Amino acid sequence: MTARVLIVDDIPINVKLLETRLVAEYFTVLTANSGAQALSICDNEEVDIILLDVMMPEMDGFEVCRRLKANPKTHHIPVVMVTALDQPSDRIAGLEAGADEFLSKPIDAVQLLARVKSLVRLKILTDELRSRAATGQQIAVEDSLRVMDNIGVDGSAVLIVDTDVRHAGRIKQDLEPTHKVDILADPSEAVLQVAEKKYELIILSMALNGHDPLRVCSQLRTLEQGRNIPIILIAEDANKDQVVRGLELGVNDFIMRPVEHHELVARVRTQVRRFRYAAELRDSVSSTMQLAIIDELTGLYNRRYFDRHLDLMFTKAQQQGRKMAVMMLDIDFFKMVNDTHGHEAGDDILVEFAKRIQKNIRGVDLPCRYGGEEFVVLMPDTSQVSAGNIAERVRDAVESAPFLTNSGVAISITVSAGVALNVGGIEEPKMLLKKADIALYQAKHDGRNRVVFDAA
Ligand code: GH3
Ligand code: MG
Ligand code: MG
Repeated sequence: MTARVLIVDDIPINVKLLETRLVAEYFTVLTANSGAQALSICDNEEVDIILLDVMMPEMDGFEVCRRLKANPKTHHIPVVMVTALDQPSDRIAGLEAGADEFLSKPIDAVQLLARVKSLVRLKILTDELRSRAATGQQIAVEDSLRVMDNIGVDGSAVLIVDTDVRHAGRIKQDLEPTHKVDILADPSEAVLQVAEKKYELIILSMALNGHDPLRVCSQLRTLEQGRNIPIILIAEDANKDQVVRGLELGVNDFIMRPVEHHELVARVRTQVRRFRYAAELRDSVSSTMQLAIIDELTGLYNRRYFDRHLDLMFTKAQQQGRKMAVMMLDIDFFKMVNDTHGHEAGDDILVEFAKRIQKNIRGVDLPCRYGGEEFVVLMPDTSQVSAGNIAERVRDAVESAPFLTNSGVAISITVSAGVALNVGGIEEPKMLLKKADIALYQAKHDGRNRVVFDAA
């Protein structure tokens, strides 16, 4: 994961300290030594996350944060307040100014990287959704990108999973009545319940009386309903290594015991807001722009949308030096399916095929029906290895089980895929598609039911 991090602090040695740590993790670092300079950088450059010192002469961090959050151009950039003292009053002031996170000096390296990485991950997702919405908007000529600023957290459904019900009860008290809180003491029951109910946040204690909290997380993440729900871990100092692994598994945040009231409220608020924000964006894409950009049969994006979006994403990836991959898929011997079982059965298969693609790609990947029985998936921020894994997963998902038509006939099919990356002198999106197409042709030529990479 790469990202552009802006460090704002009036004391050069503080800037240097953070810069060294982040550069070692391959982040791109920008620096500012005053609030005014920070605002001007954010106004003119792409910034993914801001580490903002509170105590600065002239304009303090709270004021900088307020201005960033009031500006539509910058309000979506996550702000981490860096406070010298672990003062609840500072946190409240920071929250009121719109801060997304806090770090206390002296800064702990694990905390720093965990917070930065988790916020960057969220930002990549919301950026992607924002730009999808924007692309759709151009096409649909609908000014329907809704105002996201006012998304509140009232009435959100929160689940606490903790074998210590007294502890869970205290957290519930902290969160009510703003949030609607359920408590479950049995982690296995919690997994079942998440599949049933529409929760918007899960707070998971790491002290689970013998159950492995990370296993619970990965079980939650494999559920359809649990894939995107934010998870906050409640951890002890001794759990630190596990927390880091949890964040890698897709846990969104953590809070150390003893749980501090304001910190809890802030973290819960941030996670619920982002969850609702992403859901809202998904809705606005799917409802208002549906007709212009969605393929009617399969519900995937259509070619017109894909081409437009690829242009935008390609340019952005080139500017920021990020890798992206394109995968082209074509069903093998599909004409024979039509000839043998009829066109309607063929249509049923296309619908199920689209579902299998969607189940096996990531949330940030963009699937599209490019025409007939040809599909294409755009994968932002993707290395050759992950692109290969995803392609192989899709290919296997198609081959591994027969497709059932609406009339009850089971038909086995396979798919061939060609994958290309934006490396090695690819100057425009058309070339990227062309390369994927050539690789696909090679896959067909080599015997079908396989994934081939563009050789260049
Ligand atoms: P190959 O393995 O080389 O890809 O063989 P193929 O038969 O899949 O390739 P070909 O391009 O010759 O045939 C594609 C077929 O897909 C032809 C067409 O009847 C069918 N097809 C295209 N669009 C649709 C559709 O919307 N519905 C149905 N049922 N069939 C479609
Ligand atoms: Mg074809
Ligand atoms: Mg085909």
